[in-house]
Amino acid sequence: MSACSPIPSTSLAMRTCWINGAFLPEDQASVSIFDRGLLFGDGVYEVAAVVNGRLLDADRHLVRLERSQREISLPAPYDSATWLDVMQALATQNGIDEGLVYLQVTRGAAERDFPFPSAPKPTAFAFTRPKSMREDPNAAGIRLHVVPDQRWLRCDIKSTAMLAQVIAKQAARAAGAFEAMMHEDGVVTEGGSSNLWIVRDGAVHTRPTSADILAGITRDVVLELAREAGIPVVERAFTVEQACAADECFMTSATSFVLPVTRIDERTVATGHAGPVTLQLREAYIARANRLTR
Ligand code: PMP
Repeated sequence: MSACSPIPSTSLAMRTCWINGAFLPEDQASVSIFDRGLLFGDGVYEVAAVVNGRLLDADRHLVRLERSQREISLPAPYDSATWLDVMQALATQNGIDEGLVYLQVTRGAAERDFPFPSAPKPTAFAFTRPKSMREDPNAAGIRLHVVPDQRWLRCDIKSTAMLAQVIAKQAARAAGAFEAMMHEDGVVTEGGSSNLWIVRDGAVHTRPTSADILAGITRDVVLELAREAGIPVVERAFTVEQACAADECFMTSATSFVLPVTRIDERTVATGHAGPVTLQLREAYIARANRLTR
């Protein structure tokens, strides 16, 4: 048995991964059991889409990575130019036409102690995964499962400490839903790993950015696309009840793009079919993705 077995679903096609400056087959890419990412969730991450074999909005994701690193006082081991090269090289080497690149930076391995080590040596790694995003059966409409938001008070940091989301998304799956709708006292915060939106009287509504949610890169792009299309935009929180009663509801994330929400638990949103504003924004998002990656 090798030091680090490939995970079962990918054992047939061994990926090339990248860790601390080296490109390695996935069964050789491993971290210490003393890594603070493993012990404390002391790390941050990003996920960027690959379309037509090229990174989509990786520059924006890397700005957010720098912010996340800064917010947790983690010295950045690599600059954005290096990350761009690594991410594109991984996508190319693994033959990813459409999919994602995941990257993570942790505070590295040190004797287990909560405060920061005096001379941290960050761990950095990245891997790819193929995924169909432009042609997605979920584009017909997905179901959300409503759960309380049980996270900490700095959801603006893209932290790898995600037990609350793991539990929320498992509850969603067990309920036959694709994604969780997280709320605080009935007010929607965001999805388990997505931002949530409603359409009312022709305007798109989404929660304003704050420490309560992650400032999604897809959220930003969709706001720009909506404004370009002359669709009124309202950055205001909405309730679970308002979402259930909305004309349309949708979710956004880097690897789902724009997906219509047609059911929220047992309730049907409007007609139960993807709405016109949602589909217009999904098409605009895909057209932009194609334009930027050709
Ligand atoms: N909120 C949360 C909690 C997330 O994990 C994600 C996915 N990273 C998003 C929103 C969507 O962000 P993005 O559009 O940058 O993928």
